[in-house]
Amino acid sequence: MPKTNKIPSINFHLWEPCNMRCKFCFATFQDVKKTILPKGHLPEKEAIEVVKQIAASGFEKITFAGGEPLLCPWLPMLIKTAKNLGLTTMIVTNGTKLTDSFLKENSMYLDWIALSVDSLNKENNVRTGRAIVGKKAFGNYDYLKIIDLIHSYDYGLKINTVVNKINFQEDMTAFIKYAKPKRWKVLQVLPITGQNDFGVEEFVITKSEFNKFIELHNKISVMIPESNNEIKESYVMVDPAGRFFDNSKGVHNYSKPILEVGIEKAFTQVNYDYNKFLKRKGLYNWIK
Ligand code: SF4
Repeated sequence: MPKTNKIPSINFHLWEPCNMRCKFCFATFQDVKKTILPKGHLPEKEAIEVVKQIAASGFEKITFAGGEPLLCPWLPMLIKTAKNLGLTTMIVTNGTKLTDSFLKENSMYLDWIALSVDSLNKENNVRTGRAIVGKKAFGNYDYLKIIDLIHSYDYGLKINTVVNKINFQEDMTAFIKYAKPKRWKVLQVLPITGQNDFGVEEFVITKSEFNKFIELHNKISVMIPESNNEIKESYVMVDPAGRFFDNSKGVHNYSKPILEVGIEKAFTQVNYDYNKFLKRKGLYNWIK
């Protein structure tokens, strides 16, 4: 655990492409594609170098996110690099590409899997776009099957749920009790200019609607609610172009690329709040 007040965990959004079309997605990175990274990702070698710099600068846990990171052919190499350099490793996935062979082959290097589950109702998932190309959604049965698979390889399980206008009254208690995640992160849908401006409005909820969802599940001890205010500034994030970014002003603010100016200098160009990180229970015993 850290001796300074530097946030010790980092999210590397290594890959813009995604096979889902969540209308409230706050990591679409279309701005990144249009400005400096037409392919939506760094070449493999550069992505590995970013991971090496992250490890060398003292971070302790890395979460590979996207887009959908499992679409990236060199994700296993990034995970292995991070693990061999002493980091705790995690991926955030929508689950559609999580296969038995991936779980088997990466079990030595990958510690945690964070599965995004917003609703157990297929129709609701199609409404929000949390579906393959916005059309083919997972439901309760599909998610239970994935969870059984994850547990069969003894990964640490986390579940992420974005609470929005469609699901804020949904009772997920039975599902979470079955899934037994070590952490259940419950996030209020977050509007970010330049990321989800053209889809998020119909899904935005008030604080009291968000609290309704929290109250409905208040017996679940592993639930960690994060309102819009708690999300902002409390995550250290790197974009697909290898730049730090923050969302403190409701829009992504990017640093210079890590591989251009070095990780320490790039880090000074963004804003993070360590106390907010602590408040959202970002520090926990993540060592497997
Ligand atoms: S699955 Fe994740 S990355 Fe893909 S569109 Fe949905 S929220 Fe965005």
